[in-house]
Amino acid sequence: MKQKPGVCTFCGTGCGHFMMIQGGAVERVFPSQNHPVSKGRLCVRGWNIHELLNTPQIISGPLLKQNGQYRQVSYDEAVPYVAQKLKSFSPAAIGFLASPRATNEEQFLLMKLARAVFKTNNITLASESGHRNSLNVLAAATGMAGMTGSLAEISKAECVLVLGSDITKQNPIIGSEIHKAAQAGAHIITIDSRRTQMAKLSTQFLHVTPGSLKLAIAAIARCVVREGLINADFLRARTNGFEQCSASLL
Ligand code: SF4
Repeated sequence: MKQKPGVCTFCGTGCGHFMMIQGGAVERVFPSQNHPVSKGRLCVRGWNIHELLNTPQIISGPLLKQNGQYRQVSYDEAVPYVAQKLKSFSPAAIGFLASPRATNEEQFLLMKLARAVFKTNNITLASESGHRNSLNVLAAATGMAGMTGSLAEISKAECVLVLGSDITKQNPIIGSEIHKAAQAGAHIITIDSRRTQMAKLSTQFLHVTPGSLKLAIAAIARCVVREGLINADFLRARTNGFEQCSASLL
């Protein structure tokens, strides 16, 4: 049986695993002990990812649709065919749609193909519609449309605020990092309309009505500003629009 390292792409955590391959099929997976994110752990989805890979519906190679019928073709036939077709369009007419299940490295290669070869910036992620607002806000506030902290910091935090996320289901390995922080004495606060597992394990749970998460955050921000529970010098030095933001809350 051959072993191949890989990354679980079921969620954005990106846990490291090894695939055990026999006869061209992944028979099972086991966690990579040295992976910097997962450190020898996988959640139940990660342990069973090979079941998905081995379903009969999986598309294992390129399919060419001709006369309304799909035909399995080799990459030697598919790649020149696609390249020829794409060459007949102007850069503005081509769009690239990336899969949220692809790894960062695969996304990077697709971006290179789009920008360097086809000279287009028309690239989007299939899951973007669900996250576009959050990404825009993060980019405006921090300059980066993604997390700016490191996962390794979570278990060392003294206080963790979980907002509107059923994290033990959505990103179980990150959820387990929060558990570690809780075991080390961190104060865990959950604000959610659902009584999630994390809510049950939290030091404090603010159970809001569905759709009122934004209001709850604004109310907390208002209270923090009004009662002076902020380091104003720190905020003035490192943020833009702090005064306007404070004024809008009061
Ligand atoms: S948390 Fe689970 S689903 Fe997400 S990457 Fe890790 S093993 Fe995969």
